[in-house]
Amino acid sequence: MDFIRHKYSNIGYFYPVFITLQSKNEQMQHVDIVIAGQGLAGTMLAWELCEQDIPFRILDPGEGNHSSMAAAGMFSLLAARRLKEMDLAGQQYEVMKETLNKIENKIGGQFLFEIPTARLIDKEEIPVWETASMGDIAHLVKKLEPKFRAEGIVPGFGAAIIEPSGYIDIPGLLISMREWLIVSKNLVLEKLDYEEFKPVDDGFIINGHTRARKVVFCDGPSITKNPWFRYSDIRQNKGEWIEIEASGLSPGYIYKREIFILPLGNDRFRVGATFSHDEMDPNPTMAAREELERKLRSIINVPYRITIHRAGIRPSSRNRLPVAEPHRDIPGLYIFNGLGSRGILQAPWYARTLAEKIGSENIKTKKTGNKSDKILRIQKIV
Ligand SMILES: Cc1cc2nc3c(=O)[nH]c(=O)nc-3n(C[C@H](O)[C@H](O)[C@H](O)COP(=O)(O)OP(=O)(O)OC[C@H]3O[C@@H](n4cnc5c(N)ncnc54)[C@H](O)[C@@H]3O)c2cc1C
Repeated sequence: MDFIRHKYSNIGYFYPVFITLQSKNEQMQHVDIVIAGQGLAGTMLAWELCEQDIPFRILDPGEGNHSSMAAAGMFSLLAARRLKEMDLAGQQYEVMKETLNKIENKIGGQFLFEIPTARLIDKEEIPVWETASMGDIAHLVKKLEPKFRAEGIVPGFGAAIIEPSGYIDIPGLLISMREWLIVSKNLVLEKLDYEEFKPVDDGFIINGHTRARKVVFCDGPSITKNPWFRYSDIRQNKGEWIEIEASGLSPGYIYKREIFILPLGNDRFRVGATFSHDEMDPNPTMAAREELERKLRSIINVPYRITIHRAGIRPSSRNRLPVAEPHRDIPGLYIFNGLGSRGILQAPWYARTLAEKIGSENIKTKKTGNKSDKILRIQKIV
């Protein structure tokens, strides 16, 4: 095209432009749905669209430095500060488990690890926990131990043993899903250029070469630079964790008290996480490391060695709820973002609900040309 532009640049403006557009149209690829971003949100949405036989393509530059690759991946249904189960957490847990089991069966590997949590509490807190554990959260508190004992944990704490809880190996999941999506020709390693994104009749032109009927932005923290969602209230929240080796620490529980200590096997533990709205440099900081070590030393009494220190940026909304909805003005445009610090519990459920909504809006399924039984079944679940 550059050749044509240069060759004809001396015979006026319209002719070269006409050739450019005609040539681009010839190469134009048509897709029903484009997802921008293959983090946790985009990956879960892609999985659900596959499940519902709805054709799609993901664009992602594949740079690897995104929120999901820094996630500790832990889940719990309990809002411990309020001593309540989080809204919809039961349903979200079932959908998360079902989704991960299906993915594990389809592409191989283990990504879901269920481990009970020992929430370490002071003596004075025990009566409050006793009352709560006989009420609404009785099904989540498996045991109250007034004198908790575990190798490597400072004696003197009580503990509430919470289940279900555990973690998902999110980086492992995303890398495996990426390979699977590339092989099935559903993922292209390319950034959606916000400046080259144009709403047109019945769809959108993307990067000058792809026409989509619907587009879902799953661009994580980059949403703050996305001109199409300037109105969104999603902000960035920096988090850091360290990984330690501690052979004297019992790996039987996830320990929680201000921080979490997550056993990963082979004497490895992940310790985190910090929260900061002030500083968005993506690099790990000494201040966060000191904060984590100070809190860690108040919980464990055995030697340890730091092996990894990581930082990442969470995309979170002000009311802490994910955003999975149509654009307020532009039909066919959607956002799935704001997963915050509970992304893994919420993402599969929101992805399923959003896929169902997008799929029910005039997009034909590959198999039957109608809404599949699957979609109807999902409607009953949610
Ligand atoms: C330190 C830390 C610890 C955490 N711990 C937990 C935890 O224990 N449990 C939990 O549930 N959650 C945790 N989280 C939160 C969780 O990581 C996030 O909620 C989740 O990963 C967000 O996923 P996302 O897909 O929205 O964003 P991201 O993972 O950032 O993905 C966005 C994707 O979009 C792509 N992209 C951006 N712009 C474009 C564009 N223009 N075109 C195409 N692609 C684009 C990026 O390359 C990226 O792949 C943690 C986060 C951090 C930082």
